[in-house]
Amino acid sequence: MYNQKKTSALLKTMSFERFGGTKEELKCAKLIQEELKKIKLDSKLESFPVQMGNIKKAKLEVVAPFKIDIECNAYMCCANTPAKGIEADFYYFEQASEVNVKQAKGKICLVNGYVGMKLYKDFAKAGAIALISFNGNIDFPNGYDLDRREMRKTLAGIKNIPAVNILVKDAMMLIEKNVSKVKLTTIQETTTVKSHNVVCDIKGTEGSDVIVLTAHYDSVRFSKGAYDNATGSVCLYALADYFSKNQPKHTLRFVWCGSEERGLLGSKAYVEKHKKELDDIKLCINIDMIGSTLGKRIAVCTSDMSLVNCIDYLGKVVGFPISAKQDVYSSDSTPFADADIPALSFARITPNGGGDIHHRYDVLEHLSDRYLFEDIDFILEFTKRMANAYIIPVPRVVPQNMKDAIDAYFCREKGEKK
Ligand SMILES: [Zn+2]
Repeated sequence: MYNQKKTSALLKTMSFERFGGTKEELKCAKLIQEELKKIKLDSKLESFPVQMGNIKKAKLEVVAPFKIDIECNAYMCCANTPAKGIEADFYYFEQASEVNVKQAKGKICLVNGYVGMKLYKDFAKAGAIALISFNGNIDFPNGYDLDRREMRKTLAGIKNIPAVNILVKDAMMLIEKNVSKVKLTTIQETTTVKSHNVVCDIKGTEGSDVIVLTAHYDSVRFSKGAYDNATGSVCLYALADYFSKNQPKHTLRFVWCGSEERGLLGSKAYVEKHKKELDDIKLCINIDMIGSTLGKRIAVCTSDMSLVNCIDYLGKVVGFPISAKQDVYSSDSTPFADADIPALSFARITPNGGGDIHHRYDVLEHLSDRYLFEDIDFILEFTKRMANAYIIPVPRVVPQNMKDAIDAYFCREKGEKK
């Protein structure tokens, strides 16, 4: 079996903020490597570039009908304003409706919550000159840290504009008090640093087939990322521990991915770097968030239905409640599926209010050893069957409906290049 005590201990030691590209993330990568070394497994670090922003100034001022400064963080790597800032009409861009789009031109706009690719495309096209987003929960005004967000390369590729994030209580004030004019200043220096994947192979006894096992080990800012995704990371460790003592038929490649939270950057970098060797990879098994005290088990398969049925059968055979479906999961399985490798993600998803992610409340206290080990046991059981299969039973194809779903996930238009 695998060592439960060590698995549990690793979960505790790696529960600290480890944002992609920082020295804390690298510290965690080395911690994983040390633990692997203790069970006689060699691993290597594969680096890949990520952008970083050294923010010098971020200032949001209400100019009319009254004057006040609002606490804000500049989006990392967003465009700079001129040194004296930009002043413009303030507009609440509630959604990308045609009316909102028509009214946003030349204005500094507040948008609702998190800015995804879809919203940003319409927002930039509308001719808005700067963006204000917000985070938090109005019912707990002091319960949330002011997020430090990022102008991802995928967004900047559409158009890079100055952007800041504020707290929801301030967003509400801007609307309540009918603010009409604001001034925004964002000055920063953008640099490129390294993030890392930790890669470890356990050679199979036969053939050249490879099964890749992935889990991201980075976290967002202000989050210890115990659930998201120290749990998946230690699951990978437990599996590596087991297979180091029970050699599989097919080669297993363990990849602890960096910078997942910044846009699946680690898994994208892995797929890009190893383009020529991808033919050997027959399946990707990803783990992102397990072991929560409250929750339900899911498996999301970006593959044909055989994998869905296989997990459904196995759950019933061993008495493990899990619902498997065919879809795209927002995690490191997706870049592999995008490279035509059948890929799935295992997770235990928490119900609303039962332990959320991406803030300071993602802590060990919301996790349970009992569920963590039950989850790992099932994932191990499934992996054993694949790793020791006479023939890996999943066809190495990603069907058209899933290809379309991946295109939609990455917001690619028809015919747009990957
Ligand atoms: Zn995650």
